[in-house]
Amino acid sequence: MSKKNKLTTSSGRPYVENEDTLSVGRRGPLLIEDYILHEKMSHFNRERIPERVVHAKGSGAYGTFTVTHDITKYTKAKIFSKVGKKTDMIARFSTVGGEKGSADTERDPRGFALKFYTEDGNWDMVGNNTPVFFVKDPKKFSDFIHTQKRDPYTNMKSPTMMWDFWSLRPESLHQVTILMSDRGTPYGVRHMNGYGSHTFSLINKDNERFYVKFHFKTAQGIKNFTDKDAMEMRGIDPDFSQRDLMKNIEDGNYPKWNLRIQVMPEAEALDYHINPFDLTKVWPHGDYPLIDVGVMELNRNPENYFAEIEQLATSPAHIVDGIGYSPDKMLQGRLLSYPDAHRYRLGANYEQIPVNRCPFMKESNNYQRDGLMRVDGNQGRKPNYFPNSFDDIEIDESYKQLPPTVVDAEADWFDRNAPREDDHYTQPGNLFRIMDDQAQKNLISNIVGAMSGIDGPKKDEIVNRQLCHWFRADPTLGAGVANGLGVEVDESMFVR
Ligand code: NDP
Repeated sequence: MSKKNKLTTSSGRPYVENEDTLSVGRRGPLLIEDYILHEKMSHFNRERIPERVVHAKGSGAYGTFTVTHDITKYTKAKIFSKVGKKTDMIARFSTVGGEKGSADTERDPRGFALKFYTEDGNWDMVGNNTPVFFVKDPKKFSDFIHTQKRDPYTNMKSPTMMWDFWSLRPESLHQVTILMSDRGTPYGVRHMNGYGSHTFSLINKDNERFYVKFHFKTAQGIKNFTDKDAMEMRGIDPDFSQRDLMKNIEDGNYPKWNLRIQVMPEAEALDYHINPFDLTKVWPHGDYPLIDVGVMELNRNPENYFAEIEQLATSPAHIVDGIGYSPDKMLQGRLLSYPDAHRYRLGANYEQIPVNRCPFMKESNNYQRDGLMRVDGNQGRKPNYFPNSFDDIEIDESYKQLPPTVVDAEADWFDRNAPREDDHYTQPGNLFRIMDDQAQKNLISNIVGAMSGIDGPKKDEIVNRQLCHWFRADPTLGAGVANGLGVEVDESMFVR
């Protein structure tokens, strides 16, 4: 007997008629009783799940995180418990604005989403290849993303929409500067850094909180496309990043990133001159130097893209004991919106999909039940309410420890860009000033290229408004962009 598997229907019936439909006579109409035809067609009609509204185009791989340095004085998280400890993980990298079929080399931030399978549950670090973001309040997020998508009338991407928003919201300037630099077109994902971007907490065994920024620095070295090469690669190989990552892993050339952290003792957050929870700002390395933690290596391609990468659901809400949130408003917004997006895209039971399920969790132990696609036995006959007198679920009080956050304030519609929060210019200017001559030239030329796409009746207004921001960041940067756009400079553009 053949050892090969039999062709079967979804319900397990072996069959052979996989190409020809049951018909009345050789040339006659088809019979509805050939349900295999309907099964094939109906399943095919349902193959697509909702595309991620952002980060739709992505690729990923499995790997290992290894601790190289002891940070137990900052955190009791088991993943960092001892030098040499290894933790399995998976990574997904993505562009942000493009659709699922868009090109990998578009100028765009890159998503850098990681899921670490730890004994205390999955820890997800869902960041980008940039340490900052365009907006600092989640209420602005959908407006901002609309500007990166297609114009409702033309159904085309619109530089006018993008620069209109950015020029009206100068808090975006820092991220726009990084986006317009050569790091806006990374040479695949292996050559870019990843950042947790938000401020998170670390909590140690004495219940002390430290604020933390996570940095994953590429061991392959930073390498970027020039704007021209990135544009060309869009046509030559729109799947450049996917191919580059997969091929290198297949060849045993495993990419690595060094995890380093910046640590701020909780008390310092109160009077640090920069709001440490503002996602449009970095913590300068001079104030908070990088501390080595470990190495992440990607070493296994997924067997099935849809099962393991499309269905991967990461969320900054997924923390573990020893890691906590912070008052970063964008983080607070994402804690709700990411699981919400997964419930919409994958269903209420998305955590049961094998790639999302914590391998250390033998069975679910809680009081959530039912819902579409509940496939794990639904916790059998165990009680579905709490408290109860019957079950064997114990609440482990040792996990309760979380140092209290002191909040002494009134609820109000605070302006995120009010005085002391409105310096949108120093850090983008600092970035421009640390760039070498060539990087500065490329930045200016990339900005000029991108701003040249602004058109329509408000063109001059938008261009001038944005030019003022470049001047305020750095006069040389402003003058370079004005010159490239052929705009006459007006004294008022220099005034902060
Ligand atoms: P440092 O000189 O200590 O650090 C500069 C940082 O800038 C390095 O981490 C470097 O990354 C990174 N960098 C260099 N070119 C670019 C680019 N085109 N886009 C994004 N990052 C780049 O100075 P500071 O810490 O005082 O920061 C100065 C400016 O550097 C900041 O205003 C910010 O714009 C940028 N930056 C700062 C980071 C931080 O956490 N402090 C992180 C990333 C950027 P690498 O070492 O990998 O080359």
